[in-house]
Amino acid sequence: MASQTGEIVQHSLDALLEDSSFLPDLKDQTRKQAFTSLAALLSTPNQIHKSFLRIALENGRVVRIPAFRVQHNNALGPYKGGIRFHESVNEEEVANLAALMTLKNALHEVPFGGGKGGVVMNPRDYSVKELHLICEKYVHYFSDVIGPDKDIPAPDVGTGDREMDWMMAEYKSIRPGMPYRGSFTGKSVVNGGSLGRRKATGKGVYFTLRYMLYDFLNEQKNWLRTVDNVFAKTALGYRNRPLTLSVQGFGNVGSIAALEAFECKHLNNKVVAVSDRNVTLYHEDGLDIPALIQYTSKNQGDLPVDEKQLSEANVKAQILDREQVLYLDVDVLVLAALEDQIHQDNVDKIKANVIVEGANAPVTGEADKYLSDRGVIIVPDILANAGGVIVSYFEWLQGRETQFYTEEEVNKLLLKKMKGTMDTILPQFFGDPFPLRQNCYIHAVMKLSTILYRQGKLY
Ligand code: GLU
Repeated sequence: MASQTGEIVQHSLDALLEDSSFLPDLKDQTRKQAFTSLAALLSTPNQIHKSFLRIALENGRVVRIPAFRVQHNNALGPYKGGIRFHESVNEEEVANLAALMTLKNALHEVPFGGGKGGVVMNPRDYSVKELHLICEKYVHYFSDVIGPDKDIPAPDVGTGDREMDWMMAEYKSIRPGMPYRGSFTGKSVVNGGSLGRRKATGKGVYFTLRYMLYDFLNEQKNWLRTVDNVFAKTALGYRNRPLTLSVQGFGNVGSIAALEAFECKHLNNKVVAVSDRNVTLYHEDGLDIPALIQYTSKNQGDLPVDEKQLSEANVKAQILDREQVLYLDVDVLVLAALEDQIHQDNVDKIKANVIVEGANAPVTGEADKYLSDRGVIIVPDILANAGGVIVSYFEWLQGRETQFYTEEEVNKLLLKKMKGTMDTILPQFFGDPFPLRQNCYIHAVMKLSTILYRQGKLY
C-alpha cells in the first residue's frame, strides 16, 4: 500500500482502537491483537498475480508485456476494479489502486472487495488487432483467478467498453457453459453492459461537488454557521455565488464532469478551463463544453491545440500549457487525469479552495496535508469517483437477472447511493476538524473491521 493510503488507514485504526464503543466486545490484549491483525490485513494485498503477455505484433516481432492483477481484499464480496493500460503501470501502483478499491466499495456499501489490473504499455502504440490480442492474452493468463463471483475487472485508464467486450468473449470461450456476463463490467450496452455506465464516474464526480455546495449547504446552512470548522467556512463562502471551475483531463471522467457542471441548473457555474495531455484551454467567460466534446469525439479524444483547430471546433479559448490548468485562480479544481498531479513541488501554486478527485490518488500525501491545513476542501477519490464502480455493480446485477434498467433508472439509483454516503459523511466532516479524506477512511475502515471481526478473521 502506498504511503499515503497506508498512513491514513493506520490513523483510522489508531483512532478506532481508542474508541471503546467500536467493537466493544474486543478488550485489552485481545483488542490490541485484533487491531494489529487488521492493520496487517488492510496494508497488504491478498494476492499479486503477475504475468508477461506474449504477443506477436503485426510486423512479425514478438514482445512480452508485463501485466498484473492485484487482489487486495474480498471481505465484502468478490474483488472488483478496473484494468489500466498505461506505460507507467507498475506493481506498487496497481497494489495501491487495488487498496483504494477496497476502501471505495466499503465506503459506498457496494458488496465488492478491491482489486486492480494493469498492463505496462501505451495503447496508442498498438494496432486494433494487437490490442485485441493483448486483451485475450490478459484473460487467458488470469482466467483462473477472475470470474463473476471471484474477481470482476472493469475499464480504467486506457481501456473502455471495446476491451471489456473482447475480454468477456475470451472468458466465455475459456469456460464454456459457465456464467460469464458478470465476469467483466463496463461492457458495451449491446453486449450486456449497463446504460449510464460510461458517464457514471463523471456524473458522480460532479454530483459530489453539487451535493456539498448546493443541496447540503442550503439545507444545513444554519447549523454550518454555528460550527467552528475551517472547512465549513470554506464551503459557506461559496453559498449563492457563481463558481469558476477548471478540469484537468478531458477523457471519460473529466469531459462528463465538465459537461455536468456546464449544464447544472442548481449552481451558477463557469467551466473556465479544461486540459488534456497536450494543452489547457481557457476562457474567463466559460468554455463551450458540448462543442469541445463533439470535437474530441471526432479527433481521437484530443482537444484543439491551435487557432485553426479551435475554429474548426467553433470554440473561443486561449491556449495555455497543459499544466496551467492546475494553477488558475478558480474556485474549484477537478482532477480527472492521473495520480500524483499535485505534489510537494507545485502545491504552493494551487489557488482553488475546493479540489475534487475524479482520478485515483491525484494529490500526494504531503500536498494533501498542506492544502487541508490551509482549509482547502479535498473531496477524495474514494468518495468522488465511485460512480463507475457503483454502476458496475448495477451492471453485474442486471446481468444476473437478465433484466435491464433504463438510463434514467440507473442515474436515479446512482445518485441515491452517492447521496446516502454523502449524508453519512458530510455531517461528520463539517462537525469534526478532520479532512474529508480522513472521515471517509474511518468510515470505510469501520465497515471493513466489523465485517472482518464478524467473519472471525481477527486473530
Ligand atoms: N476503474 C474504475 C475505478 O477506479 C471503475 C472500477 C469498476 O467499475 O470496477 O473506480
